[in-house]
Amino acid sequence: MIDFRSDTVTRPSAEMREAMANAEVGDDVFGDDPTINKLEELGAKMFGKEAGLFCSSGTQTNQVAITVHVKPGDEVICHEEAHVYRYEGGGIARNAGASMRFLRGNNGRINPEEIYDQINPDDQHYPVSRLVCLEDTANRGGGYAYDYAVIQRSAAISKELGLAHHLDGARVFNALAVNGIKSQEYGANFDSISICLSKGLGAPVGSLLVGSKDFIAKARRVRKVFGGGMRQAGIIAAGGIYALENNIERLVDDHKNAKLIEGILSSKSWIDKVLPTETNIVVAHLAGGLNEYAVVEKIKESGILCVPFGKGRIRFTTHLDVSENDIDLLSEKLPHQL
Ligand SMILES: *Cc1c(COP(=O)(O)O)cnc(C)c1O
Repeated sequence: MIDFRSDTVTRPSAEMREAMANAEVGDDVFGDDPTINKLEELGAKMFGKEAGLFCSSGTQTNQVAITVHVKPGDEVICHEEAHVYRYEGGGIARNAGASMRFLRGNNGRINPEEIYDQINPDDQHYPVSRLVCLEDTANRGGGYAYDYAVIQRSAAISKELGLAHHLDGARVFNALAVNGIKSQEYGANFDSISICLSKGLGAPVGSLLVGSKDFIAKARRVRKVFGGGMRQAGIIAAGGIYALENNIERLVDDHKNAKLIEGILSSKSWIDKVLPTETNIVVAHLAGGLNEYAVVEKIKESGILCVPFGKGRIRFTTHLDVSENDIDLLSEKLPHQL
């Protein structure tokens, strides 16, 4: 099986496992795990922030961040297809007690000017608009990275309107590989950033939340309430350090492979169109009303795994465990006709 379902399916390499096996550990709830402390510092520094918090997943980093930024009854402004809304089990309502206001934008990315129309006036009838969440790259949109000028504009408008600015940066390093901006400069646009170590970077577990010292101190309390305080988790944090030190630069290979998949899919009669591929996510629209679940099952018979991605759409994702040879195999095996 060649697994294109997600960049979460990567398995830790021998070198990463060795780093994990040799990690120095301690009880992190007491602040005693040197490996976790090192990872949190490393991630924070990369994005020009004062502090970091190691969490079990990207959902947890996003949910902890949102819960710190808002009070129950407040409103979060995000894209209508944002992961924080669509794929986190209603966590914004459940965990933070906040409602949501949606922006249309394009391909999963917001148009910051829309914030002016969607922020609530200071009137007792309305929830207090408190936070803007961006996603870069934007998963549902097809893995597109924001133009850096749009990020800056969103930060400026949020600041002007007194709104906090959070980044769901599950794939932020894929975005930085496209826009060429240094992570520290980029990070200055956000109050908090969530970074997945367990996607294209290849660590088995974990995400990092970075922000100011004060913000992270509050986030640490919320993480504990969510049951996310971990003990000798330096073993997994070591995988995260290895990922940050070794697996960022190679993300461009994933982007190249995804571009090749775009070409392969485009040549199939059962594909109507493929969204222009920019990073490691390839989204294809099926031809003639084909059902996405049926197509995924059919392709599986040829030893290829991908996922349904909304009505009439399927998604392929490239990652650390997909080689150029796998792309050749895909080209050979993927049926011409369904
Ligand atoms: C994967 C992902 C997350 C977090 O997912 P976890 O599976 O909880 O780690 C958050 N945002 C985006 C855009 C994602 O793709």
